[in-house]
Amino acid sequence: MSTATPPLQRTKPAPKPPATAKTAVLAAKQVKKSYFKGKLEVPVLRGVDFAVQPGEFVAIIGQSGSGKSTLLHLLGTLDAPSAGEITFEGNRIDNLPTASRDVLRNKYFGMIFQFYHLLPELSMLENVLAPLMISDGIWKYLCNRGKYSARAKELLDMVGLSHRLTHKPKELSGGEMQRTAIARALMSQPKVLLADEPTGNLDQQTGEEILSLLKKLNEEQGLSIIMVTHDQAIARQAHRIVRLVEGRVQE
Ligand code: ADP
Ligand code: MG
Repeated sequence: MSTATPPLQRTKPAPKPPATAKTAVLAAKQVKKSYFKGKLEVPVLRGVDFAVQPGEFVAIIGQSGSGKSTLLHLLGTLDAPSAGEITFEGNRIDNLPTASRDVLRNKYFGMIFQFYHLLPELSMLENVLAPLMISDGIWKYLCNRGKYSARAKELLDMVGLSHRLTHKPKELSGGEMQRTAIARALMSQPKVLLADEPTGNLDQQTGEEILSLLKKLNEEQGLSIIMVTHDQAIARQAHRIVRLVEGRVQE
């Protein structure tokens, strides 16, 4: 009996690899996280599987206290899981030494938060430059200051704030502060933007403007975005919604 492939099958085109075969930008594999109250273990994440593909805009939704921020912090290497793995472009990152995680985060991850986390004493331009002052060290920073400043101004212009370079945070609206935080997050040309309730402190219209800006960055620059929100209407505008329920993902 011949084992040769029948001619009909040989002429068939090779099947396309499924979309999931792409290397995820960021992924969590069976990630668990517990906090401890004295000796009492309080499990928050109970085995989360989650992956974001290049160019994808994913919303993570769930009730208050469901572990959304915890998951985002783990993905961004701000904290380490109790069990499981976090991978960036296929490489495990949760077990790296702290210094390596800091470098990785500065270089590849942009982060924005509900309360902006701007430094009140600095102007908007200085706020956008601040992470580079810290990551470069003062001498390298000073050597590159002209180039960095030009890029920071370009980004502030892109988010619609070229007229606010020398203003301090307290002189700006919430929407303007979030735009500045977005410009700051983009300084390092990150591969992925992690956003924790980026519209949570804004009125509806301003929130929608911030969301439009995020969508534009995703569509025009291919920036991968993971956005945590408790707002269904905001989440629906992402490509995909991931729901956290009782410490696990329910897509
Ligand atoms: P969400 O962002 O979905 O509102 P969080 O991830 O902030 O939820 O928190 C999930 C749960 O973990 C909450 O019950 C919260 O109280 C608890 N938690 C978060 N951070 C800590 C911490 N550092 N220490 C102890 N418990 C924490
Ligand atoms: Mg939260």
